[in-house]
Amino acid sequence: MLDNLTTRLAKVVKTLRGQARLTEDNIQDALREVRMALLEADVALPVVKDFIARVKEKAVGTEVLSSLTPGQALVGVVHRELTDLMGGAHIGLNLATQPPAIILMAGLQGAGKTTTTGKLGKMLSERMKKKVMAVSTDVYRPAAIAQLQMVAQQAGIEFFPSTADQKPVDIALAAVDYARRHYIDVLLVDTAGRLAIDQAMMEEIQALHAAVNPIETLFVVDAMLGQDAVNTARAFNEALPLTGVVLTKLDGDARGGAALSVRHVTGKPLKFAGVGEKLGGLEEFHPERMASRILG
Ligand code: GDP
Repeated sequence: MLDNLTTRLAKVVKTLRGQARLTEDNIQDALREVRMALLEADVALPVVKDFIARVKEKAVGTEVLSSLTPGQALVGVVHRELTDLMGGAHIGLNLATQPPAIILMAGLQGAGKTTTTGKLGKMLSERMKKKVMAVSTDVYRPAAIAQLQMVAQQAGIEFFPSTADQKPVDIALAAVDYARRHYIDVLLVDTAGRLAIDQAMMEEIQALHAAVNPIETLFVVDAMLGQDAVNTARAFNEALPLTGVVLTKLDGDARGGAALSVRHVTGKPLKFAGVGEKLGGLEEFHPERMASRILG
C-alpha cells in the first residue's frame, strides 16, 4: 500500500537530504511534491491543505532553517505531522467495564465487519485470554448470520445464535443477558450494513447502541474506498458516538488516503488495521510506524 505516496516522498526526501541549506524556495518545491503525493494518495483536499499549512509553518520557522541538516529537519517535521494526523500514539481497546465489555461493529456492507469481528475475537481470546462471544444482528442478508457463525468457529470464540425473523435489538439484548449469566468477558455485536448510507440503517444501529450501551463502538471502513471512506466516516460519526476506527484491506492496493483522512474527519483514533482476509490479519494501528512506512 501507499506505494505512490512513498515513491514521491522518497524522491523529495532524497533531494532534501542532500541540501546543505534550505531556502523558502526549495521548501515550497518540496511541499508541492508532498501536496501532490497526498492528493494522489486520495487524501481529502481539506486534510491536505491543513497538513501542508502545518508543515510549512514549522518548516519556515527557525526549527528547520537553523538546523545543521535542514533537509533532515524538514523530513522530521513531515514525519511528526503525518504521525499527528493519524492520531499520534496508538490507542488500544477500552475494556475497562463490568463484564461483558460490549463492542458494537458499525460500517457499510462489505467493509469487513464480520471478518473483523472474527479477527478481534481471535485476538482477544488468544492473546488476551478473554472469554469472547459474537452475535449477529444482521437479519436482512440470509447468509450473514451463518457467515458469522463460521467465522466465530474459526476464531475459536463462542457464538450466540439468532434468526432472520427476530428484531435486531431483541437479539442483542438476549445476547447481553446470556453473556452476563455465562461470565463472558467480551461480547462482539456484528450489525447489518447497507451498500450506501441510509436513514433506516442509521436508526437501527442507533437503537442497538442505545439498547446495549457498548464501551466500544468501532467504525469499520474499507481503505480502498478512498474519498468515499471519508464521507462514510463523517456520516457514521455524526450518527453514533464512535470510539474508534478499524481500517480494513490495507493489504490491498489502497492508496492510503483513508488512513490519513478518516482520523482527521472523525477525530476518533484508528485502533486497528485489517491486513488480510485470514483471521490472523489484524494489526494494532500505530500512527508513528505508519508514518515511517509512508516516508520509506
Ligand atoms: P461486512 O459486510 O462488513 O461484514 O464485510 P465482510 O466481513 O463480509 O468482508 C467483505 C469482504 O472483504 C470479504 O471478502 C472479506 O474476506 C474481505 N476482507 C475483510 N477484511 C479484509 C482485509 O483486511 N483485507 C482483505 N484483503 N480483505 C478483507
